[in-house]
Amino acid sequence: MGTPWRPYVSFNIWSQFAPSVGQEHWHCDMKRGFARARKKEPLVKALLEQDTTPQHIGLLAQKAVYEFHQDIELLQPSNGVERMAEILQLSKEPSEVQQRVIQILQNYYKNPILAGKNIIKLSRGDEGIPEPILIRNGNYFFNLFAAIDCIFVDLDGKLHILDFKTGKSDFDRRQAFVYLLAATYLYPQQKAVASFYNLETNKWSDRITATDAQLNAIQIELVRIAEQHQKELRRYKENPSNFAQIFPANPGFNCRNCQFNSICKFSVSEVSA
Ligand code: SF4
Repeated sequence: MGTPWRPYVSFNIWSQFAPSVGQEHWHCDMKRGFARARKKEPLVKALLEQDTTPQHIGLLAQKAVYEFHQDIELLQPSNGVERMAEILQLSKEPSEVQQRVIQILQNYYKNPILAGKNIIKLSRGDEGIPEPILIRNGNYFFNLFAAIDCIFVDLDGKLHILDFKTGKSDFDRRQAFVYLLAATYLYPQQKAVASFYNLETNKWSDRITATDAQLNAIQIELVRIAEQHQKELRRYKENPSNFAQIFPANPGFNCRNCQFNSICKFSVSEVSA
């Protein structure tokens, strides 16, 4: 018998429902509609299959960290950055991608933050959808998807869940809480902390911890989002012509960087100040 279907949620879905603090002006529910309700339509599917530049840089950065620790000698020779650029085939990338990734490689080469750590998981970044974590909240069962970049063991024996970032956006503590909740299911016997590290700015966040009460609150919030998500998908399926009511557009500056701007009828290319 196959695994039964269950409602699901992830930090990514949460962030598509509710923007992080300071990002409210950029938030557009219609993006969620394209990405979640219309993802199988050929035009939408094709757009979803293309990484945006920030996504692509993030993936190359994660792959570089992975490769550096697959072959730790790459962190030794004086040409380690050049060799990694070859492994990543950076010469085939657009110049913006090349420049930013080279900077990331140089940063990591100078300060390889995972060197000497007891790493128990390090993702390459292109593994696809992670295994779902089955969560029970009372009588409600749902799947949590948590794509964790790295886990190592801290000197005090705690698991340290590390998420790599690139670009300028601030760390979103909600993501850390989702990972800490995931850790209570994946490693129930161990205490965990979480943090973020920006590979472009070399900025490391505080170590983030959560009490049982906080994790319980996060779990309840995730149940609410999983239910809301299914409700919206159902409403769209029953009445596709209501797309813009179910997923309201928020056109503006954010359209410039939206991956759906070529197919969105609400997209604005210029906005007067
Ligand atoms: S193009 Fe603009 S309005 Fe349309 S989905 Fe993207 S951000 Fe929203």
